Parts: sequence; structure tokens; C-alpha cells
Amino acid sequence: MGKRSDCDLTWKCIAKNFNKRFGPGRRPAPAGKDDKLVNMEIKELTELVVKFRNARNWDRTQDYKDFAMALIAEAAEVVEHFKWHTPEQMKQYVAIHKDGIGDELSDVLFWVLLMSHDLDIDIVEAYKKKMKKNALKYPIKEEK
Ligand SMILES: [Mg+2]
Repeated sequence: MGKRSDCDLTWKCIAKNFNKRFGPGRRPAPAGKDDKLVNMEIKELTELVVKFRNARNWDRTQDYKDFAMALIAEAAEVVEHFKWHTPEQMKQYVAIHKDGIGDELSDVLFWVLLMSHDLDIDIVEAYKKKMKKNALKYPIKEEK
């Protein structure tokens, strides 16, 4: 297992790491083996999602509005894990329920991948573009 980043998942920390790679004065790294691997994994996950959906004929009964509502419902199931815990309880709760939290995050990803597929959106490219916007919107400030 690699060294764990000291970055939590706040926008400030994400933007800081993104700016290290893509920030002003730096050009995006050329697409290398790692980037291709990430794109392939997203492609494979998308193929799994589409195959799962098509095998159940859900494509005949649902539209983008239904997908968006399912995405929100799954996001709410993520939230459900984190409500009503004190900070002290949260650490223990997360350790015990990590699989369940992963299940709900996976459900969110399912709908993200399915919607991006059906809307013909390259989600990897969309994500990269959005993170550049986020980096501009949330510039890194000198820490005290
Ligand atoms: Mg769920």
C-alpha cells in the first residue's frame, strides 16, 4: 500500500493538489501510462454499468430525469451514514461501516457513469475541465 496522502477531501486540499499539477505556470502532464490506465478503468466501469442496465431493460423505462433522481437518492444514502454522529462517534462508525459507505458511493458512481454514457459526455475530460475551473475558483492561499 502506498503512502497515504495527508490530503483530506476538502475542496481546498483537492484544489491545492490539482494546482500542484496543473496550476499557473505548469502545463498538464502529457498523457502517460497512468492516465491511460485511469481512463481505461472508467471505460470498463461504464461498460459494466451499461451492460447491467441493458440486461434489465431499464433503458426502456427510464429517462435522464429518472437517472438524476436516482443519483440524488443514492447521494442521500451516503448522507444517511453521516448524520447524527458526534465527531468522536464518527471515527468508530466509519471504521465499522466502511463497506456500506462504499456501497452507497458506488451507487452514486453507477448513475454518474450511466448518465455520462447516455448523454455522450466524456466524464474523464469533463472532470479535468471542471477541476481546472475549481482551481481558479478556489485559489491556494498562503497558509499561516
Ligand atoms: Mg444505495
